[in-house]
Amino acid sequence: MRVLITNDDGIASPGLQALVGAFDPVGETFVVAPERERSATGHAITLHKPLRAHSVAIPGSAARAWATNGTPADCVALGIIELLPAKPEVVLSGINVGPNVARDLTYSGTVSGAMEGAIFGVPSIAVSVGSFRNPTFSVAAAFAVELARAILLHGLPEDTLLNVNVPNLPPDRIAGVAITRQSAKRFISRMEKRVDPRGRTYYWLTGDPSPVEDLEGTDTWALTHNRISVTPITLDMTDDRAAAAMRTWDLAWRPASGA
Ligand code: MN
Repeated sequence: MRVLITNDDGIASPGLQALVGAFDPVGETFVVAPERERSATGHAITLHKPLRAHSVAIPGSAARAWATNGTPADCVALGIIELLPAKPEVVLSGINVGPNVARDLTYSGTVSGAMEGAIFGVPSIAVSVGSFRNPTFSVAAAFAVELARAILLHGLPEDTLLNVNVPNLPPDRIAGVAITRQSAKRFISRMEKRVDPRGRTYYWLTGDPSPVEDLEGTDTWALTHNRISVTPITLDMTDDRAAAAMRTWDLAWRPASGA
């Protein structure tokens, strides 16, 4: 299995190293990852400055690896177009420290790494562990290998990627695997307003989860019920229900009316 691994926590992240370690025995592993943390950069790409990549070693692995000054999406594109000797069969992004669920998918560099793989037509998986504190990666890494094998066996629909969140628990406390949907759970955002030592105001985005119960079958529900959450995500953002409703609006362009 030829695998391309990226992440958004940076090439030195123990989550990435655990993922590489899990894939080393099962295939040909390549790593292209940001040289520093690029969390919450979404699907940003580098168009207005040079993109650079240099060879690095991943501790304990013989995988060919490059660190870049780009984002996760840059890394995947650079790997597929330029650095890898052949197109990967699977792209993996992670293992991220902290969950990527609900509305956060839009901001996630981890998910965007996998999304870029899907744009290139490669089956892709984003993997996150559900806690920022004392994260452990062995369950997530082992499950990622199993899921990659399943994808090669069954295939994925075109334009689909998988977003995986693994509870931060020992193997015997994982209650199973749930195929989930993206939760609509919101976070109540606040801007902390402070004053810097030079007397100038600055802002820092913060917030808390809304006190809404997790709907059964969602990604947030799976994590709180100790299940590994696997959410299929599609690149097509079209809202077919809204489009059908809007066709009855009789929208028309009438040049004379705007003059
Ligand atoms: Mn991250």
